[in-house]
Amino acid sequence: MVDLSGRVAVVTGAGSGIGRAIALRLSECGAAVGLVGRTEATLEAVAAEAKGETRVATADVADREQVDGAFDALHQHLGPLHIVVANAGIGGPDLQGGQDRWDAILRTNLDGAYFTLRAFEHRLAGGDDPKHAIVISSCVARFGVPGIAAYSAAKAGQLGLVRSLAAELAPQGIRVNAICPGWVETGMAEDRMTEIGVERGRAYPEMRKELLEELPLQRLSEPEEVAGLVEFLVSPSAVGFTGQAFDPNNGAWMG
Ligand code: NAP
Repeated sequence: MVDLSGRVAVVTGAGSGIGRAIALRLSECGAAVGLVGRTEATLEAVAAEAKGETRVATADVADREQVDGAFDALHQHLGPLHIVVANAGIGGPDLQGGQDRWDAILRTNLDGAYFTLRAFEHRLAGGDDPKHAIVISSCVARFGVPGIAAYSAAKAGQLGLVRSLAAELAPQGIRVNAICPGWVETGMAEDRMTEIGVERGRAYPEMRKELLEELPLQRLSEPEEVAGLVEFLVSPSAVGFTGQAFDPNNGAWMG
């Protein structure tokens, strides 16, 4: 296990799924962890599970003032920052109940990641230790899927953001990388599989089985697998990676 004692990390969308697993892993490694999301109760539940120091700050990542406010509070209580994971996101189709969701999806997933990384940059720890910003993108940044143009554009946009900020922030010792998971066992994946099932006239269990059979490894990832990749990326072994995207996707896309 990587030793992160003395480090401060912030994870957005830390109240459930992948963000929860990442926050708990960073805490287990010894970091003090700031937990950001919109729902205080779920963040507090994760804080109660963590063994080390944590602090909850509620914010909607789509609102820059709220993001800055949350990072101010975390900086004040936990100290200057070494690690940020921009994980908060919403999924789903472009159209829902006749409403076009482009603005909401771009604002949360793409603007939210940008606001999060800028907030991190402005509250950075000093010293020569490497700093790490990790964005949780998606395998749909890599290929086209009908009906989710907004989500795909936001996730592909995150890769542009990562590459650009990796070049810009390197002089400050900040490594900026992305993770592009395929299906991961969370509420978001179940919701999306259910929606695809409705489109194709299949119940969720049948749809899930069919979608997994399309994958070379025929499995979903667990949130802890993504957390393990985050642990690697903040380890001394990964000091040479920046501007990269990593693909734990069970073979869904092979670059
Ligand atoms: P999840 O369980 O729904 O987690 C998303 C988290 O983001 C929730 O805790 C949610 O909490 C938070 N969130 C959503 N909108 C927010 C906002 N505007 N401001 C602050 N927090 C917000 O889903 P997940 O699967 O773990 O997703 C995590 C990330 O992985 C997302 O970026 C997603 O796109 C990406 N991803 C997931 C999969 C998959 O198959 N599961 C695959 C590829 C990529 P609140 O609602 O309480 O704010």
